[in-house]
Amino acid sequence: MDAGGAAPLRRREMAAAVSGAGRCRPGKVGAGRRPPPARVRVAVRLRPFVDGTAGACDPPCVRGLDSCSLEIANWRNHQETLKYQFDAFYGEKSSQQDIYAGSVQPILRHLLEGQNASVLAYGPTGAGKTHTMLGSPEQPGVIPRALMDLLQLTREEGGEGRPWALSVTMSYLEIYQEKVLDLLEPTSGDLVIREDCRGNILIPGLMQKPITSFADFERHFLPASRNRTVGATRLNQRSSRSHAVLLVKVDQRERLAPFRQREGKLYLIDLAGSEDNRRTGNKGLRLKESGAINSSLFVLGKVVDALNQGLPRVPYRDSKLTRLLQDSLGGSAHSILIANIAPERHFYLDTVSALNFAARSKEVINRPFTNESLQLPVLAPIKLSQKELLGPSEAERAQGPEEEEIGSPEPPAAPASASQKLSPLQKLSSMDPAVLERLLSLDRLLGSQGSQRTHGLNTPRRERMVLMKTMEEKDLEIKRLKMKQKELEAKVLAQEALDPKDKENSSPAILQPLARRTVTVAKPLKKAVVMPLQLIQEQAASPNAEIHILKKKGRKRKLESLDASEPEEKAEDCWELQISPELLARGRQKILDLLNEGSARDLRSLQRIGQKKAQLIVGWRELHGPFSQVEDLEHVEGISGKQMESFLKANILGLAACQRSGPS
Ligand code: ADP
Ligand code: MG
Repeated sequence: MDAGGAAPLRRREMAAAVSGAGRCRPGKVGAGRRPPPARVRVAVRLRPFVDGTAGACDPPCVRGLDSCSLEIANWRNHQETLKYQFDAFYGEKSSQQDIYAGSVQPILRHLLEGQNASVLAYGPTGAGKTHTMLGSPEQPGVIPRALMDLLQLTREEGGEGRPWALSVTMSYLEIYQEKVLDLLEPTSGDLVIREDCRGNILIPGLMQKPITSFADFERHFLPASRNRTVGATRLNQRSSRSHAVLLVKVDQRERLAPFRQREGKLYLIDLAGSEDNRRTGNKGLRLKESGAINSSLFVLGKVVDALNQGLPRVPYRDSKLTRLLQDSLGGSAHSILIANIAPERHFYLDTVSALNFAARSKEVINRPFTNESLQLPVLAPIKLSQKELLGPSEAERAQGPEEEEIGSPEPPAAPASASQKLSPLQKLSSMDPAVLERLLSLDRLLGSQGSQRTHGLNTPRRERMVLMKTMEEKDLEIKRLKMKQKELEAKVLAQEALDPKDKENSSPAILQPLARRTVTVAKPLKKAVVMPLQLIQEQAASPNAEIHILKKKGRKRKLESLDASEPEEKAEDCWELQISPELLARGRQKILDLLNEGSARDLRSLQRIGQKKAQLIVGWRELHGPFSQVEDLEHVEGISGKQMESFLKANILGLAACQRSGPS
């Protein structure tokens, strides 16, 4: 097409509509705040019957209902129609201007806010995607209109005396058979798509041409369009065999402090059509091309579905197209999808599938944010004047490597004065090479010891340094603690030597463990033992009581490790009570007395005996006479041998102690 013949647009009207953008610049956006959502907007455009197309005399299979909805015949039931509703519906009589002003122009203002925007034309081959995006000299499409407006807008907003200097660059590429080809520089070959640390999608090495006027744009765009891969299929004489992506970047630099920078990207995408190869008559290369087109559109559908279902993995990387559209679908762009459909009956299945895709797309939520960064004051005037001094072509060459470096793992080296202020890590990188080498060999040594530290080996250099520093600090801390412990032990020993009496009086529990204990980083497991209150009181009252041996000894216990399949055996200190047999006998006697003489209420004062069991015991006693021994309890109906044992254990000590302390 010859976009150069773009009919004069109502520029003043458009500029007035869009220029609001300049006044509503947001402040610093994104600092800790989640950007507000912006749903992907979906418009459907129905093209008119085209002369010479098969089926042009048949009645249409789809028709509009109002400005947002349409209906299509239901192939399952001819009595019914399928109805769809979108953000906008443009019928066969709608003009290029209607579509542009209604759906595309409103999102352009976001570019001047430093946000991204995308326009995608989707639909089957021959349904009018290229017509919508490029149009013809008589009916220019979205691309020439948007460029004209944007350039006008940047001229107004970035003029002398305004706070921001604005510049526009363009890149143009196609994705053909999963290859990314630069249409402005066709010799570049297949380019790679990368993502920078902020999640921006980049194509290092992609040509960027600065443009200041619409004539500039045409000068680059028209020859590049001729480089686009097109071929004739039965449906469309100049069928687009690739996805064409025009990228327009709007750069803003604040003229005064704090010298902020903003970048807004506009993607204008003319997708290749999905094709039914039986209808296109594709063979050989055409069939192969069609396979690549269909599979990337299939992935596009999967991406939309994954976003709608909130799946943790969105398959952006499964095709070059979706990787590039990562910003536009579920990403940071204000996006509009224009689904193009045709009225002819033989398009019916393609139309239904395009409408279903469009309906799924309108559920996708994006979160646009402002791409803003601070420029160092020292650099600001230099960079600006460089661009202005060199002129567009030189500036473009100077700008080239900028993108390539963004995707690289190491940040680009900034001038010394600036970078020193920026990053504390800089010190490590400027470390004496000999010291660095020694640290690295220490790291290797630690790794070869096969300890847990080996994870340091695979970490990037700077992180490794930090890790090693932490480990060194921890080692020092352990050494310091060991020294302190030794000092304390020496102090205690010296005191003992001076005053041997103290040794006898002091508890062995305080002195001995110090000598034996070894220092470990992990704290030893502590176990609190709760003893009956009466017992503790007894012990304190009379050191020669019958409950007088509290023995500490190591015992093996099964500990549940994280991996339940491998329980760990650990020695653990615990306390064991040793009680004299007389005391136990007294406890048993006391229980027996209670069983034989106590009322149900008395019995309930015992551990493990509730109302029901107390009544059972009293009933048994009335029937069989007194209990001869406590073990007879298990003859009581409703009390098992196990219950009897646990009853004995629970009560014997308490009762024995009561007996001793009380008047016997
Ligand atoms: P696609 O890019 O989807 O394969 P095209 O944009 O190439 O389809 O359109 C196919 C044909 O239909 C072209 O000849 C084009 O001029 C014509 N056409 C498409 N849309 C319209 C429209 N809205 N009004 C008039 N002609 C149209
Ligand atoms: Mg096309």
